[in-house]
Amino acid sequence: MPAALEEVIPRSDHHLVTTAPPHPHESDRLASVSSYRCAESVGDPALQALVEAAARSLGTPVAGLTLMGETEQQLLARVGVPAQALPRHLSLCTHTVSGARPVVVGDTRADTRFADHPLVAGEQRVRAYAGVPVFGRDGLPVGSLCVVDVRTRDFGAADVALLEQLARAAAGLLELHRHDAGAGLAGRDVLAESLRLRRAVEDGELRVHYQPVVDLRTGRVAAVEALVRWQHPAEGLLPPGRFVPVAEASDLVVALGRHVLTEACRQVAAWRAAGPATAGLRLAVNASGRQLAEPGVVGAVQHALSAAGLPADALTLELTETALVHGADVQPALRRLRGTGVRLALDDFGTGYSSLAYLRDFPVDEVKVDRCFTAGLGTSARSGTITAASVHLAHELGCEVVVEGVEHAGQLAHVAALGARYAQGYLLAPPRAAAECDLTATWPVHVGTARSASAPAARHPRGPVRELHHDAAS
Ligand code: C2E
Ligand code: MG
Ligand code: MG
Repeated sequence: MPAALEEVIPRSDHHLVTTAPPHPHESDRLASVSSYRCAESVGDPALQALVEAAARSLGTPVAGLTLMGETEQQLLARVGVPAQALPRHLSLCTHTVSGARPVVVGDTRADTRFADHPLVAGEQRVRAYAGVPVFGRDGLPVGSLCVVDVRTRDFGAADVALLEQLARAAAGLLELHRHDAGAGLAGRDVLAESLRLRRAVEDGELRVHYQPVVDLRTGRVAAVEALVRWQHPAEGLLPPGRFVPVAEASDLVVALGRHVLTEACRQVAAWRAAGPATAGLRLAVNASGRQLAEPGVVGAVQHALSAAGLPADALTLELTETALVHGADVQPALRRLRGTGVRLALDDFGTGYSSLAYLRDFPVDEVKVDRCFTAGLGTSARSGTITAASVHLAHELGCEVVVEGVEHAGQLAHVAALGARYAQGYLLAPPRAAAECDLTATWPVHVGTARSASAPAARHPRGPVRELHHDAAS
């Protein structure tokens, strides 16, 4: 390719390019892009090695790893590309990033998005393109990994899978170049940590704790949410916030998720078999976007259920909005899973980029109102209004509601008065190891019995509410 791209892409040609629409969350996506130290990443030998591996494996003369800014695409690592930056509207990868899914074009001249592109129609003769998005920590596509050929050719599923694997590795490396050093994964040796975590999964160091979800109509435990922990040999019991992001930066989260699902299904089946009080116990498991985008996810869930002898409708998969940002990839799997009887919940409702759009587009059975709203119940009128509106909205859409993060009796009374059927929080029970869970306790709480937002819900002073509140605080 010529040394100066601007020489071969005259400004007058710009109007010919079929531009991609912006990503649905473009401003959040751009914020995510700007959280990476782009200049520092350029020339990173590990990123360069990944791009060279892509070109070598797929046998293409050109490959690149990009960060897609508002007006410009930066190439962090490249093979066969002379320029480090390209105007965004002239980037072939803009379609990959905007759509947040792989774009594979065996013959660019036969594709309306590319046929008139100066790099296709001009002397560069770009004839084939394959690109996959690179997802940042927030689950938004920050850039792409792509290969380009000067002859038409087929790219197979294995080629795309390889690119996706390399893109995940690149995403993990990019975490080392974030502005918010000290927070999240920044400043941490993600590769070393993910290797250590992989061994931990294999060596059985992961633990599953369970937090009850209480049915406010009966006062009984209706379900448990499985919450993963890492029993680290040196650092003790680590919460998921310390290691799930590392797992999510690679495909390790798939193995982690399967482990949690298998173990939790087995445990809940044992509880259901233990007696009539827990015979109808349901299980909620958190799922990450990458897990749901995995081709074998439906079979893996069915296998975990059948191995434990658990009916599909005993399982709810909790999806955060970050998981759903991979929307285009996960929709089919979610619909198939729901077709098998598995329930779906929208977790942390109200905290993501576009909660309402997700509620409109995804077939969920349950909404979990985030604990940041619960925390303000009784003290912040605005939190009260948002919680009430969320409960009402979910009910109108035919969804069940779980209010998370209930820590005080006043909050529980408020939740009950709003008509939400389910509550979860330290007041009722904190997450605990299976052996320490008491799932037969009942709470003296009933929907509609609370007299006002500030009325105490625990009418029996010796009931479990008091005792567990004491436990959680200790
Ligand atoms: P989440 O799914 O929203 O889980 C609820 C979190 O809120 C848990 O934190 C729980 O301990 C905490 N919590 C429960 N009641 C209260 C309360 O009354 N007050 C307060 N302040 N917090 C409460 P945890 O266990 O640290 O989990 C954090 C997040 O990690 C989870 O949020 C979930 O998104 C993720 N996670 C946990 N386990 C898994 C897993 O197996 N796979 C995946 N992909 N993510 C997981
Ligand atoms: Mg959850
Ligand atoms: Mg939550």
